[in-house]
Amino acid sequence: VKRVYAFGKDANGNNVTEGNTDMKWVLGGKGANLAEMANIGLPVPPGFTITCQTCMEYANADNTWPAGALDTIAEYRADLEERMGKRLGDAEDPLLVSVRSGAPFSMPGMMDTVLNLGLNDESINGLIKQTENPRFAWDSYRRFIQMFSNVVMGLDGDLFENAIVAMKNDRNVASDTDLTAEDLQELVSEFKAIFSENVDGAAYPTLVVDGAVQFPQDPMVQLQLAIEAVFGSWNNPRAVLYRQKEKIADDLGTAVNVQSMVFGNKGETSATGVAFTRNPANGTKEFYGDYLVNAQGEDVVAGIRNTSPIAELKEVEGLEEAGAQLEEIFEVLENHFRDMCDIEFTIEQGKLWMLQTRAGKRTAAAALAIAIAMEKEGLITKEEAVMRVAPDQLDQLLHPQFDKDASYDVVARGLNASPGAAVGEAVFSAADAVAAAEAGRKCVLVRWETNPDDLAGMIAAEGILTSHGGKTSHAAVIARGMGAPCVCGVEALKIDAAKKEAAVAGTDIVIREGDMISIDGTTGIVVLGAVDLVMPELTGDLDTILEWADEFRTLGVRANADNPEDAELSRDFGAEGIGLCRTEHMFLGDRKQIIQTFILNDDELIREKAVADLYEAQVGDFYGMFKAMDGLPVIVRLLDPPLHEFLESPRELDVEIAKLEAAGAPSDAIAEKRALLEKIDGFAEQNPMLGMRGCRLGIVYPILPEMQVRAIATACARLQKEGFAPKPEIMIPLVSVLPELAKLRSVAEAVIAEVAAAEGVELSIPVGTMIELPRAAVTANEIATEADFFSFGTNDLTQTTFGFSRDDVEGEFVPQYLNEHLLPYNPFATIDPGVAKLVEMGVELGHEGNPDIVCGVCGEHGGDPESIHTFNRIGLNYVSCSPYRVPVARLAAAQAAI
Ligand code: PEP
Ligand code: MG
Repeated sequence: VKRVYAFGKDANGNNVTEGNTDMKWVLGGKGANLAEMANIGLPVPPGFTITCQTCMEYANADNTWPAGALDTIAEYRADLEERMGKRLGDAEDPLLVSVRSGAPFSMPGMMDTVLNLGLNDESINGLIKQTENPRFAWDSYRRFIQMFSNVVMGLDGDLFENAIVAMKNDRNVASDTDLTAEDLQELVSEFKAIFSENVDGAAYPTLVVDGAVQFPQDPMVQLQLAIEAVFGSWNNPRAVLYRQKEKIADDLGTAVNVQSMVFGNKGETSATGVAFTRNPANGTKEFYGDYLVNAQGEDVVAGIRNTSPIAELKEVEGLEEAGAQLEEIFEVLENHFRDMCDIEFTIEQGKLWMLQTRAGKRTAAAALAIAIAMEKEGLITKEEAVMRVAPDQLDQLLHPQFDKDASYDVVARGLNASPGAAVGEAVFSAADAVAAAEAGRKCVLVRWETNPDDLAGMIAAEGILTSHGGKTSHAAVIARGMGAPCVCGVEALKIDAAKKEAAVAGTDIVIREGDMISIDGTTGIVVLGAVDLVMPELTGDLDTILEWADEFRTLGVRANADNPEDAELSRDFGAEGIGLCRTEHMFLGDRKQIIQTFILNDDELIREKAVADLYEAQVGDFYGMFKAMDGLPVIVRLLDPPLHEFLESPRELDVEIAKLEAAGAPSDAIAEKRALLEKIDGFAEQNPMLGMRGCRLGIVYPILPEMQVRAIATACARLQKEGFAPKPEIMIPLVSVLPELAKLRSVAEAVIAEVAAAEGVELSIPVGTMIELPRAAVTANEIATEADFFSFGTNDLTQTTFGFSRDDVEGEFVPQYLNEHLLPYNPFATIDPGVAKLVEMGVELGHEGNPDIVCGVCGEHGGDPESIHTFNRIGLNYVSCSPYRVPVARLAAAQAAI
């Protein structure tokens, strides 16, 4: 196996790159694109990439090296030294390298990086000689020791930061840049001493010299330890969490890029920066990003110093040429990759070097705008444009915004780093954000700047607010990726994380933990107090892409809705009908009283009166629904849930009785409550989801389906007479054997015929069933003989196929199953292949029993892009999902068809 791939030029200027952009599974995204940039003639510092597969072999063998791998690395290291005409550790003209992670998918800031590797007590002299800049050289050495100790050896970064602070206090200077070469040289000695004191010699016997741990002087030892650390960082907790969240497989591994160092901190004609070829927040065609003069690598991303906008770069004295070349390269990269690119670069004494490029992360709004613009520019096809937008990302656009009519006072402004508005309590640490979310409280995470350790808190919070860092800072990049609203760089916020408060400069406002705040990531404003939020509409770019998507998709999209408002909303979002109207949702509020009367009374007359009341209410419900969806199908499902869901909790009644007794209430009042309790207890079931619900309810209490069908037919007849075109369909839930369906179908047909005669209209109302039990799926050929349509209830089908209770799935064991990879994902969110097989069987057998049968799905999976691909393959006619998922489903259905 080939484990190492070279990239960049040899000593004669010939390109000796071995990889290319298609090799991201082997070289990682960074390695593959470094190779590609070198291949198309861009200036890339030479280096080599160790493969992702080597990382996995190393990790799977308990962190031991595969045979021969270290020898191969040594060969490539020697080759790099020859290409560069410099050696690692050389006392005259040393080669320095960076060692960086690079997985197949970008995982910003999750894994490790070491810079300036190759410095030691000898090569520092070479670096001084070559640069004639002792201060720069000593600063590089101290940065290397600091980074190596922290990243590779896992020492606490504060040990070193504290030493720097102590030195600054001692020298009476304010900034790191005020420390002299001599100061830095002294710091190097101190850092080495800190290293010796804190590294465990027993764990690293190779570092023990004369009985004491020493900072490694041999560059080969440095290199091997650094590579091992990068490999190890694949499995650090924050990387594991990030992968879980982003659904990235754990067995991909990370590549390691060993690359010649170039320096952005060699004075005023050196710089470093990150940039995008278009605006990643809104998609505008402009150069976008930040740079810092005289700075090294991570300084920009870390948000430690405030940066300047990239557009100004070519106006800076000494950087004009590199700035202009960079803009040309932006064009080259966009035309080559035919996508918006994200770039890291360094300018070393006026010479531009490209350190990374990849398809840039962008907001949903930007993804839409860029896809449409590139199609118009002729760079990509319409199909490609539709493929460029991740369906789940659309969610961002369907995020709340500040209500335009709301009035509020803006207390501070920052950068609009990730769109959408968020309202919640201010919290000042990731841990507090997690705690708030777990307690069911919405929060906004307020930080000076986030770092990868804050990830869990960023996920838990509604939005993120930072006082520092630019639009490419950690908080901004991560928030955009997650679709979380983010306002960053709010300099007026003076955060005291220890006190859990933030003062707003220039005012007497202090935001304390627990105070409600609102942020708008689209405009960058911060408000004290909760602002009313509104949902946005489908317009502009989103509408365009969805219209294009509709040209390609073959799968229909309907919505699950049970009131006219939701029905109208889903119609606005492009739903082609209602795939599931859950009528039990119409029995809440004051209707609950009526149905309780029905359930708890033995007196026939009282029961009939209750049903008559329900009928009146239901006619109105259905009238509203059918009118809202005029001309489009509305599948009304007859009452499904177990009756006890409509009753009071017997526990509470128990408590009430105990209180009455304690208070010495009259015995007949207590007896009455007791009788009620007994009755309610009679409806209790061990596992109600498998009990008296669905069609079973209608078979035991035929008066209920009769009433519902009568209401449906009557509402339909009325609308027809008013000139509308209602298209109701009746759906029988939880069928497992044909006779259940046959019996209820004949009840329905009789009532429909009765209403048609009484109203003097012709009614054509299809009757179908849900397929949500395994027995129904495997005997679908029989069931289809009595069904005009099937709707697969994949929630119940998943529950009954696995034998997992859908109500308890978030509880104990499923999370553990996910952690231990016993399940690849939650089967209630994304359709499981076993359950999908039952759906497929149901569709096939269903067509045997009734060639004209219409098949859809109305479980939660109907709005999940991955599941939609499966349903498209199986050949369903439509998916049905919640209104806000309708746009997502339209796009996913198109992508499945392309
Ligand atoms: C289902 O079971 O998938 C379904 C849509 O019905 P409900 O969720 O109402 O049981
Ligand atoms: Mg169901």
